[in-house]
Amino acid sequence: MSLISELVCVQCGSGYAEGAHMTCPTCGPDEGILDIRFDLERAGETLNRASLGGRTASHWRYRELLPLDEGYCPTDGSIGWTPLIETPRLAAAVGVRRLWLKDDGRNASGSFKDRASSVGVAHAQQLGYSSIACASTGNAASSLAHCAAAAGLSANIFVSRIIPDGKLAQLLAYGARVFKIEGSYAEAYDLCTKACVELGWYNRNCAINPYLVEGKKTGGLEVAEQLQDDGPDWVSGSVGDGCSIAGVYKGFVEMKAVGIINWQPRMLGVQSADVAPIAEAMRTGSLDRSGSGDTYADSINVPVPRNWRKAVKAVGDSGGAYVCVTDEQIMRAVRETGRLSGVFAEPAAAAAVAGVASAVVDGVIDSDASVVAMITGNGLKDIRGAIKAVGAPHVIAPDLQRVIKIVEADSKGES
Ligand SMILES: *Cc1c(COP(=O)(O)O)cnc(C)c1O
Repeated sequence: MSLISELVCVQCGSGYAEGAHMTCPTCGPDEGILDIRFDLERAGETLNRASLGGRTASHWRYRELLPLDEGYCPTDGSIGWTPLIETPRLAAAVGVRRLWLKDDGRNASGSFKDRASSVGVAHAQQLGYSSIACASTGNAASSLAHCAAAAGLSANIFVSRIIPDGKLAQLLAYGARVFKIEGSYAEAYDLCTKACVELGWYNRNCAINPYLVEGKKTGGLEVAEQLQDDGPDWVSGSVGDGCSIAGVYKGFVEMKAVGIINWQPRMLGVQSADVAPIAEAMRTGSLDRSGSGDTYADSINVPVPRNWRKAVKAVGDSGGAYVCVTDEQIMRAVRETGRLSGVFAEPAAAAAVAGVASAVVDGVIDSDASVVAMITGNGLKDIRGAIKAVGAPHVIAPDLQRVIKIVEADSKGES
């Protein structure tokens, strides 16, 4: 048995028993998102710094806080437990005292989404499903295709037209059935939901499936365990549907409740200036569903987010803030993150770094602060997007003099 105590509706607050509903029957599937609560007292009886020391170097190490029955919670794995890299030169460039990057680009399929997909696949197996589906702008899909292939389930993926080639190639390589929808992400999402009902597939769509957020939570659990007594002032993460920032924050709350840490960071939610419905909902208290706009950072290009309530609440409860960054600022962050820390981030991941720089300029984050930026996806996912940000090579004849001239010109430029 898992240690789930109940599932609580984020809108009306009603509580339900595990297994009863996927969304709140009173509030409906659009607004009635559920939040999974655990018996944290019991979790704390076995989950502590000492017991963690002997466990798998993957996100499955937190089994007490995962929504899975024992036989479905693996004791090893290749997802999670990604490095937390301190990067003084990037810290100086963005203007904070200390900066760490949580490099989730190193996950099996190259993104933070592997945390959620792996829990989704395990949950689908626990419920006896053999097929699973999702609608995604990219990483949720490629991670689901990976996790399904690894577990032997079949995957059905609904993508919109803006999917980068790298992510599409991953889907096909992992053997998923791919539907590329001639329409928006919202239309792909609705079609996927209908297909799941009609064809009996497990629905991985994160916002309506509270189990997935529990996978994303492991990002926060890990940062908490990795920093132990040295908690950061802020944790920055980019926001599309809103599940990631909510999940990561929940991780800190639970690690504090079980007694592994005694601090809680403020959360910085970062959105694109051109697609910022959750930042706006933070100000107004409601979601503008007429959403449009477009950003270069495809993974956070979500004009009508599903999980805005959880995302607004997490940032609010943490005493945090939302900031918006332009595509220009994101491209700059792709360049600087690569050059100053050695971490190649996809645009939506670099947005978390751009957000820190912008929050310092705005006076939201103090220049004396310590900050963790969640690097949610690998730069190799979207080569065309990366090239736009990082420039072109020197095209020359095979001639040493040309090399020397370019090196000289560069060193003049630097001095
Ligand atoms: C999905 C994703 C995000 C945003 O997560 P949400 O849960 O949609 O808010 C950020 N960065 C990357 C790389 C992603 O794939």
